[in-house]
Amino acid sequence: MKKGLSILLLFVLVISLSGCNLAETEGSDSKGYVGISMPTKSSARWVADGQNMVKLFEEKGFKTDMQYAEDVVENQIAQIENMITKGVDVIVIASVDGNTLTDVIKKAHDEGIQVIAYDRLIRNTEYLSYYATFDNFQVGVLQASYIEQKLGLKEGKGPFNIELFGGSPDDNNAYFFFDGAMSVLQPYIDSGKLVVRSKQTTMSQIATLRWDGAEAQKRMDNLISAHYSGEEIDAVLSPYDGISLGIISSLRGVGYGSKTKPLPIITGQDAELSSIKSIVNGEQTQTIFKDTRKLAERTVSMAESVLNGTEAEVNDTESYDNGKGIVPSYLLEPVSIDAANVEEEIIGSGYYTKEEVGLK
Ligand code: BGC
Repeated sequence: MKKGLSILLLFVLVISLSGCNLAETEGSDSKGYVGISMPTKSSARWVADGQNMVKLFEEKGFKTDMQYAEDVVENQIAQIENMITKGVDVIVIASVDGNTLTDVIKKAHDEGIQVIAYDRLIRNTEYLSYYATFDNFQVGVLQASYIEQKLGLKEGKGPFNIELFGGSPDDNNAYFFFDGAMSVLQPYIDSGKLVVRSKQTTMSQIATLRWDGAEAQKRMDNLISAHYSGEEIDAVLSPYDGISLGIISSLRGVGYGSKTKPLPIITGQDAELSSIKSIVNGEQTQTIFKDTRKLAERTVSMAESVLNGTEAEVNDTESYDNGKGIVPSYLLEPVSIDAANVEEEIIGSGYYTKEEVGLK
């Protein structure tokens, strides 16, 4: 009887101790520990991306560690190394420079940590599980088709002057945006209906390192002074809102933006708040809306699959070869935005409020 009681007590003790242990183990009440490595806070979209992901992961019971690299490659590598040391189970990375993470991703792989590329492809690694992004070629097609439509190129109007801006040469997406845009613009350049007075039409001539708006502004200043005395610019292909705003500052500086000298058609990307305001105020003409909430959802579900050992849903197994093979990808649909549909798409979807964008 006594023996029976002590066995029972021992049993209760063991159960309660293991219960304690469980409660005390870091993150043991969560479904997994996720590292989130983001490029920079200097652009509103990446801030939104990060916030959306942390919120969703935490709602689902994951623990997160998010770091921003402020566009410095060495910071990003050190931050990822730190996540590996902390023992994360999976890492989501939006790279600063997609060519620099081969070694650190190998380290993650050696520790059994899986990696998901977020929005930007990571190149030269065989250890990438998935890639979640938007249809990047289509982004360029939408930007260029907007210019085509607004200038009436399909109806045979022209010739018009255009200048081209590209994204960061270390970002795989920049080439997809450029190729998509040129698939629409090149025939008009060839036929002379679009004239690039600077003759700068290759990615290496038009790229903007780290998507820097100030650098784009300087390049626009130079283009204007070298090629546009007595000539007006009718359109500017800009790949990203921060670059668009730099271009607008430059153009305003030489008198564009008045009744007699309207701003050219200027595209963009990301539907950043400052650019949506600019569109509402009639300055920037267009942007591409990539709903970061949807990308976060997609990525969270990929991470869940990875951790459960199941296959994630993908819709593209052809387009994204990172130099070591095709990375299974999920591409979301981008949407073209201008003053005519900003209310329906941006306000209607709850991305920003009317007050935020300055609409009555
Ligand atoms: C993203 C774009 C963004 C750009 C600059 C690209 O990789 O796909 O949405 O405009 O980086 O941050």
